[in-house]
Amino acid sequence: MIPLTQLLEQDSFSKEDIVRLLQLQADDMALLFSKSAEVKQKYVENRVYFRGLIEFSNICMKDCLYCGIRKSNKKAVRYNLTDEEIVDAAKFAFDSRYGSIVLQSGELSGKQFVRRITSLLDKIHQATQNKLRITLSCGEQEKETYRLWREHGAHRYLLRIETANRELYGKLHPGNPLHDFDRRVTCLGYLRETGYQVGTGVMIGLPFQTHGHLADDLLWIKQMDVDMVGMGPYLEHPDTPLYMDGSKLIPPKERFDLSLKMIAILRIMMKDINIAASTALQSVEKMGREKAIRIGANVIMPNITPCSYRDHYKLYENKPCTDENPEDCKTCLEFRIRLAGNQIAYDEWGDSKHWKSKEV
Ligand code: SAH
Ligand code: SF4
Repeated sequence: MIPLTQLLEQDSFSKEDIVRLLQLQADDMALLFSKSAEVKQKYVENRVYFRGLIEFSNICMKDCLYCGIRKSNKKAVRYNLTDEEIVDAAKFAFDSRYGSIVLQSGELSGKQFVRRITSLLDKIHQATQNKLRITLSCGEQEKETYRLWREHGAHRYLLRIETANRELYGKLHPGNPLHDFDRRVTCLGYLRETGYQVGTGVMIGLPFQTHGHLADDLLWIKQMDVDMVGMGPYLEHPDTPLYMDGSKLIPPKERFDLSLKMIAILRIMMKDINIAASTALQSVEKMGREKAIRIGANVIMPNITPCSYRDHYKLYENKPCTDENPEDCKTCLEFRIRLAGNQIAYDEWGDSKHWKSKEV
């Protein structure tokens, strides 16, 4: 086995290398983190881009076994923000000098939903002088729908694969055509073909998930040549079927460390992509996202959903900051990011450098 310092100098890793890196502890783990921080500084600098996250509706037609807002969870209180509320939130992001926003929701299909998003994109661009980059995260759609939304000024799209392992995917979703692994992969292809900056990601510390699965996830992400990645710990929700498998879980702190290692390894493997510090990290550790920023992530998505709705967008338990207003979140984030030795890039779109380098 080659020494760790030598392994960390490599640009590409085999599955065995990644499994080894995922098992690092203590000083060895610190060595990995210092290498990934160095790569981050060199390729994307110590700058953090804000994406104002608007969780505009928790109405979902799907039944992912891990998610608190799945269709069959009758306990979830459903909401749908008005267009005005969404545009106001977008204006808040614009006035706060965030370069971009993310519109995220449960997954719906059908003409009404497609038309609504299209008109929302128009309204937001109109209200913010066409100056905001808009990311959508509204699940699997037809290629024509993606194209339409792209034409109306959606620039980026987030669609996590959740796990790149087909068998594990099957254990996390009902076995029906609405929850089909191949369909999800096809949608990522559509997004690329219709001109988006494409983001994907996985959940970390799932029941039945091994280090081998996670290594395969990173290799799959690299092979997909995506522009952005968001990944974080799986956090159980009591009103979901996967909660029953709680006994198979590693403790939250281990899921957290594993998530940091995944981010660090990915930064070394894909040096110039955008990597988000997921909100789920903050649920496990108060300074979780800032730790991720220190070791490789360069995007944070402050939640700017109006407070009265936030409690109902519960994908998992203990979602942080649900009782604070957007201003509070902004102020506390600024302070924490400075503590992590990074600078917030205000008024910048923060497009993925990886995507830009493919454009020229
Ligand atoms: N409906 C869209 C977007 C909203 S869900 C979609 O599914 O693509 C956004 C992400 O939340 C999912 O991709 C999933 O990775 C994450 N998520 C859902 N339930 C979670 C849980 N229990 N723990 C951690 N992340 C979860
Ligand atoms: Fe719906 Fe997304 Fe949750 Fe699945 S993960 S149930 S698609 S909101």
